[in-house]
Amino acid sequence: MRIDPLHIEIPKDAIDKLVEQYKCSPEDAVRAYLAAKNESENAFQGTLDDMLGEPATSETVKPSIHTPLEIKNHLDKYVIGQEDYKKRLSIAAAYHFALVQTLNKSPDKAAKVKRFRKKNTIISGPSGSGKTYCVEILGDLLEVPTLIIDATDYTEAGYVGKSADDMIRELIQMAPGASKHDKADFVEKNGGLIFIDEIDKKAKDGKVIGHDISREGFQRAVLKLIERKHISVEDPMSPAGQIQELLSHQRGQGQAKSKGVISTENVLFVLGGSFQRMGDDLEGIVRKRLERGADRFREDGSFTIRGFNTNDAKSDKKHYNYYREADADDYIRFGLIPELVGRAPVRTYVNALSKNDLIRIMTKTEDSIIDQYKLEFSLFGIDLTFTEDALMWIAEQAENHKTGARALISVFENTLTDFQFEMPGTNFRKLNITREMCQSPKDWTLKMLARSPFVDFIGKFRSDHGIELNFTEQAEREIEKYAQDNGMPLSAALGKLLQGAAALNYMNWQEPFTITEEAVDNPKYFDELYVKWHKEKMEKQTRKEES
Ligand code: ADP
Repeated sequence: MRIDPLHIEIPKDAIDKLVEQYKCSPEDAVRAYLAAKNESENAFQGTLDDMLGEPATSETVKPSIHTPLEIKNHLDKYVIGQEDYKKRLSIAAAYHFALVQTLNKSPDKAAKVKRFRKKNTIISGPSGSGKTYCVEILGDLLEVPTLIIDATDYTEAGYVGKSADDMIRELIQMAPGASKHDKADFVEKNGGLIFIDEIDKKAKDGKVIGHDISREGFQRAVLKLIERKHISVEDPMSPAGQIQELLSHQRGQGQAKSKGVISTENVLFVLGGSFQRMGDDLEGIVRKRLERGADRFREDGSFTIRGFNTNDAKSDKKHYNYYREADADDYIRFGLIPELVGRAPVRTYVNALSKNDLIRIMTKTEDSIIDQYKLEFSLFGIDLTFTEDALMWIAEQAENHKTGARALISVFENTLTDFQFEMPGTNFRKLNITREMCQSPKDWTLKMLARSPFVDFIGKFRSDHGIELNFTEQAEREIEKYAQDNGMPLSAALGKLLQGAAALNYMNWQEPFTITEEAVDNPKYFDELYVKWHKEKMEKQTRKEES
């Protein structure tokens, strides 16, 4: 193509961008630009790629900006129910990380928004119902460093466990980058996500004296991180950290920003817990407050909240979720310090998971447990399925554990252990788990193994002739009886009674073939079948020749 510079306008910016993106020469970029410029948006990109090859990958990984709806849609694929939490978390994360990135790109805006109010979140509700899981999924989507920690492993200053500041150093480890300082730089620029689980275990408890000072101390340490604290990238207790500390002091920087120190400003915090404890748990606190303020009482002493009568809840054996009504004062009454609650303006809840939720978790999520077990069995050539009743049984067992969805895996493991051990390496190609099999897996595995000569025969027939065999129950019983009467192993009885079955191969049999009682009892069964097939074939041929 010849380019006539007098007649065509070529925007320099666009060409520079292409040179940068595709690492190509300016001339190639101009050619590609001209070829693509009148195309639609998609085709435009396609033409550029065709002419210039794939864009060179950028060395600096940057998280992309997501809308709240995109985040929520992603969470929906993995997390069942918990709508309020998913929605509020999506909003908190979308705005937080969009703002961090924008401020990062345009420092002039950053000057205007000196300190933005972060949407740190408090999440309460029964354990095992998705509080942590949501944050894990969120972190994967946003590609920001994400740290999930248990508050009970940390103390205010680290004199018994890890210190609160260690959280930031652990978060840095999660970031991309070749060196610790690259990683720290990434966190400082792009932010991060920290989920502090079991924050309720760090609540002040009016009744306990002593421990409370350190619990409150931890909350204050977290508060500082949430507000803004400069944390040294190196652990101050390590030799590298002590050198760093010394250099900072010599430079007279103290806690001020210096190399090797990062600010926690762009980190979003989620504080989670079940807020349960003996006596006055969060639900009790909320219930008491609501009772005091309830305006509609019934004669039986029950009262109505948002159209939901507390006694109806009991008689239904359903549990009213008081967590959803928890406000800042309730959290403070539970034992969180007011400053910390104030710095976590988003407060939301999760519901206890019902049996139906558990079944949906097993079957409907993107990384469902069933898919995982199906995959595992498929590695040994076995197609694993479950009846609906079996899934209901598993959900019932998991529900009894009272640990939410967390119990599902252990119920599955206990149920499937014998099958997982015995089935691989056999000729079984299908395993359909029923409720009865879940109830006594050992007996069922033994029963199945006792049936294995049939399965072996089917497997050998499949590999010899490419034909799938089935047995009717009656046929199986006849063969077993024959083996018993003649004192021979089942495999020998099968070989003897069904030696004629190979004739199916000569008949070009394609469909699965069912061995019936008749096929077992009549020694001439397959010969007769072959003769009949042959006759029909000849007749067909004659008809063809005549016409
Ligand atoms: P917690 O509420 O105590 O933080 P988790 O979020 O850690 O509980 O849940 C434990 C596990 O149970 C998760 O890793 C996930 O596999 C499963 N799970 C819990 N709740 C849900 C849910 N609502 N949807 C899908 N899976 C869930």
